[in-house]
Amino acid sequence: MAVTGALVTTAVRLPPCKLLIGEEWRDAVSGKTFETIDPATEQVIATLPEPDEQDIDLAVRAARDAFESGPWRTMRAAERGRHLHRLADLLRSHEEEVIALESLDGGKPIASVRRQDFPAVVDCLEYYAGWCDKITGDVVPVRPDALTYVLRTPVGVVGGIVPWNFPLMNAMWKIAPALAAGCTMVMKPAAETPLSALLLGELALEAGIPPGVLNVLPGPGPTAGAALVRHPGVNKVTFTGSPAVGKQIMERAATTLPKITLELGGKSPNVVFDDADLDAAAKAATAGVFFNSGQVCSAGTRVLVQESIYEEFNERLVARAAALKVGSPRHEDTYLGPLISQRQLDRVLGYVQRGVSEGATLRYGGARVDGPGYFVSPTVFSEVDNSMTIAREEIFGPVVSVIRFADEAEAVAIANDSPYSLAAGLWTNDLARAHTVAAELRAGMVWVNTYGQTDTRLPWGGLGGDSGVGRDLGETALENYTDRRAVWVNLRRRS
Ligand code: NAD
Repeated sequence: MAVTGALVTTAVRLPPCKLLIGEEWRDAVSGKTFETIDPATEQVIATLPEPDEQDIDLAVRAARDAFESGPWRTMRAAERGRHLHRLADLLRSHEEEVIALESLDGGKPIASVRRQDFPAVVDCLEYYAGWCDKITGDVVPVRPDALTYVLRTPVGVVGGIVPWNFPLMNAMWKIAPALAAGCTMVMKPAAETPLSALLLGELALEAGIPPGVLNVLPGPGPTAGAALVRHPGVNKVTFTGSPAVGKQIMERAATTLPKITLELGGKSPNVVFDDADLDAAAKAATAGVFFNSGQVCSAGTRVLVQESIYEEFNERLVARAAALKVGSPRHEDTYLGPLISQRQLDRVLGYVQRGVSEGATLRYGGARVDGPGYFVSPTVFSEVDNSMTIAREEIFGPVVSVIRFADEAEAVAIANDSPYSLAAGLWTNDLARAHTVAAELRAGMVWVNTYGQTDTRLPWGGLGGDSGVGRDLGETALENYTDRRAVWVNLRRRS
């Protein structure tokens, strides 16, 4: 199989390729640099300064200064909201530029960035802009001779670390609520996708958000990311990424004890009962696993299908997978772009081999698509047992495992037999079954007769284990960035 269409890098304006600390665009103190690669062509897009502990320290100091003495925390809350709305307006006026940049840097199909990432980014920012003047405390009646109330105040300096699969969206899930609450932030985007967050930093300054409120230092995790986590000036660490790194972060943070949110991985079950609308289920199961080339934390990578429809469903899934267009992310009709890197390509192909050697049936795909670029064809395995490696571990590529089940009890048992707990889907036309099974599936998000939808207004996160702790999004996420402080005022009069 070959990639369709020419892989021409279109002219895209790059943001300043420097570290944003305060209002300055800086080189790394060490003078070191790294390259960001276009995954569709394997060509270098830009060379950027590589931050380490020294740069992170400067950024945390800038964020601390902006928190303690800058106007952000103390300005009227409605004014903070207006700043965030201005940033949203600027994003809208740079829409095509943001979309092209995100598509280029992450190898993401441009149509999906336009349809999904960009609107979600702006919606998230506008949603939290609206919260600025609505983050209220409580008066708690304790006794008649006291006024006792709970204040909500910003936690301080937030350290954000995000992955490369939805670079700007994942960053915004952290930045928007943190800034709305009055916090300041040091954001460390993944080294694979540094560009869109730098553009956001540039626009934030243009929107009048005070310098130091948003500092952006893309770079490698083991140096820059680790330094951010253990910096004593960071009050809150909010991380999205792999369970392995999430666990390291929890350990490292033990020395300084910041508040922590960890949005980690998934191996989500998508359960299809024999009374479901099969066409709709097959269509959504296909998108549910192959969207963004499977590089999605909530990808429905374990499709559980009831025995009586197992073969028919597999045929539908294979037909749909075969019809997906693999190609240049620059083409509007591309569905699957490349994987993010050579490392990810090797990892995914390694899992395919493992699936075959452990006895699963490779029904479609499973191979690299002729390059350049890190393309893999959509891959369907059937006759997968839930104990096989491809059903247990997060592949983070376009690989689906179709697993057979006999009845409702077995479906729930298989679905919940996983170290992950991020999301799950179920397909049935039986109303009672829909609600019963939805409550039994161990997942932070359950989709019924649909798959993969998220919204800024709904909380997002796993129920523990390798899916992490805490929640992004919704009103709930504001708790991440605010402290609740009790105030006791003595009302007793002197006699
Ligand atoms: P990763 O853990 O390798 O990297 C994520 C981020 O952490 C990057 O910015 C990276 O530079 C940084 N990092 C790496 N090592 C670090 C260290 N030692 N200390 C501090 N920071 C470090 O993950 P990835 O491969 O980039 O992303 C894929 C993972 O992210 C998958 O497991 C996926 O499920 C998960 N993810 C989860 C969600 C969610 O909402 N739950 C969303 C997107 C992705």
